[in-house]
Amino acid sequence: EEKTSVDFIRAIIQEDNRTGKHDGRVHTRFPPEPNGYLHIGHAKSICLNFGIANENPGGLCNLRFDDTNPEKEDVEYVDSIKEDVRWLGFDWDDREYFASDYFDQLYKFAMTLIKKGKAYACDLPADKMREYRGTATEPGKPSPGRSRSVEENLDLFERMKNGEFKEGEFVLRAKIDLASPNFHMRDPVIYRVRHVHHHRTGDKWCIYPMYDYTHCISDSIEKITHSICTLEFEDHRPLYDWILDELEVFHPQQIEFARLNMTYTVMSKRKLLELVQGNFVSGWDDPRMPTICGMRRRGVTPEALREFCKTIGVTKFNSMTDKVVLENCIRDHLNQVAPRVMGVLNPLRVVIENYPEGTSEELDAVNNPNDESAGTRKVPFSKVIYIEKEDFMEDPPKKFFRLSPGKEVRLRYAYFVTCVDVIKDDAGEVIELRCTYDPETKGGNAPDGRKVKATIHWVSEAHAVDAEVRLYDHLFSTPDPEDLPEGEDYKTNLNPASLQVLTGCKLEPSLKSAKPGSRFQFERLGYFCVDSRDSTDETPVFNRTVTLRDTWAK
Ligand code: ATP
Ligand code: MG
Ligand code: MG
Repeated sequence: EEKTSVDFIRAIIQEDNRTGKHDGRVHTRFPPEPNGYLHIGHAKSICLNFGIANENPGGLCNLRFDDTNPEKEDVEYVDSIKEDVRWLGFDWDDREYFASDYFDQLYKFAMTLIKKGKAYACDLPADKMREYRGTATEPGKPSPGRSRSVEENLDLFERMKNGEFKEGEFVLRAKIDLASPNFHMRDPVIYRVRHVHHHRTGDKWCIYPMYDYTHCISDSIEKITHSICTLEFEDHRPLYDWILDELEVFHPQQIEFARLNMTYTVMSKRKLLELVQGNFVSGWDDPRMPTICGMRRRGVTPEALREFCKTIGVTKFNSMTDKVVLENCIRDHLNQVAPRVMGVLNPLRVVIENYPEGTSEELDAVNNPNDESAGTRKVPFSKVIYIEKEDFMEDPPKKFFRLSPGKEVRLRYAYFVTCVDVIKDDAGEVIELRCTYDPETKGGNAPDGRKVKATIHWVSEAHAVDAEVRLYDHLFSTPDPEDLPEGEDYKTNLNPASLQVLTGCKLEPSLKSAKPGSRFQFERLGYFCVDSRDSTDETPVFNRTVTLRDTWAK
């Protein structure tokens, strides 16, 4: 019995299971085109297709590369897609397929259609073909090729395959209905000539099947029960059904759902590729990108992405998801798993005048208040420390409770300190503070019961690890970067302040051996991840994954 209500796709599948439509089989597929890296929209489709397979006893989900556009495709993309699906936590076992593996079968099926009088070779030039297709109020006109005999069509199709024609000289079209209100049914092209090398089939073929023709037949060959795709394909469904009905082969059910759109980003591979090629970002895995590899590099966890996909659900209506929903899923998971550490991004030197020179001590710090088993660690404390520049104001407004001349604050896990002097450079900028500490307040409480209003983080100078820290803001400065006045380019909405690089940051020494990809909460500052590309032993590089929901004691 279901405890919670299910989405409309799962409801269809439950009903099919109840009626025994596919003998209780549930078999889905995730069908990326290897022409780019996967993005968070794909994650929605992956979680849906693999999720449904996992929820149903005996359920299966294939990984199928939809590789029918050889000009744009590459093995680099195939490899990245596999890595990303696996990282998200899903497994296709040995069910890895390529539409190009079906080229022979697709060719034979095309001959079947020709023999049935349901496909013909057409030599109308592209502009004429468009003109002949008609309008919303005018039916299409038959191309001269429409009345060719089966023999002629078989001959022409074979000659297309044999390379006798130039690109665009001939196409193969399905013969359906030139008066259909649905343009996809007005004799769509199902094969075209392309004299290009394919990353898998090499130069074997110079004709390539079109997406709509390939997709339904691939689903059928793989005995997919539920072919789940995005809403744009709703109008293609009659063609999907027509082809399979004409061929009298196994007939999966196509079901459409609304694609993911998210604020402050673009989501099409074409545009993401443009950002990469134009050096607007450092690569597909730039931590500002909505790609799976970009988010991984930024420190997002697969758990958070799966939770996000669960939270947004599946509907039939296109909408825009607020990026905050994603950020909250990331925070929720990192809050549970990320060890706490201290790091100072904009260091201000503090000398504690009454602390003994040349000594240090180790203080106990809690690794994760949400996970007792994470234990504690030792953090070294000494006479000279760094605090955050923003935690000091020489001339503070009334509500500023952090450090200022004469004020006392708590140093996290350490002591109460009071600012007694301010050192400035010639330009009048504060370069150092002099403080005193109260040895009685070790661990953060005063035996006399006196209170301080703020607790700030710090790092001991002698023990600090120097690091570079990269802070990120939205890649685009407007919530819907594609919402533009006529003729303007979405790239004009790129946020010039989306990346801020801080050098000379001071981190507690436990971070010295942090492995690439490992994640931490820097107390009060957010969640950070060791960059897996640029970090070195000499200079660790950290990416801020996301800020904290709220900053404590500020
Ligand atoms: P793009 O427009 O980014 O190139 P696409 O649909 O052309 O996307 P494919 O590689 O064909 O990219 O997508 C593989 C699968 O992922 C398809 O089933 C597609 O429907 C799904 N998908 C792609 N983008 C989204 C999205 N934004 N939300 C949900 N599913 C998506
Ligand atoms: Mg596609
Ligand atoms: Mg596309």
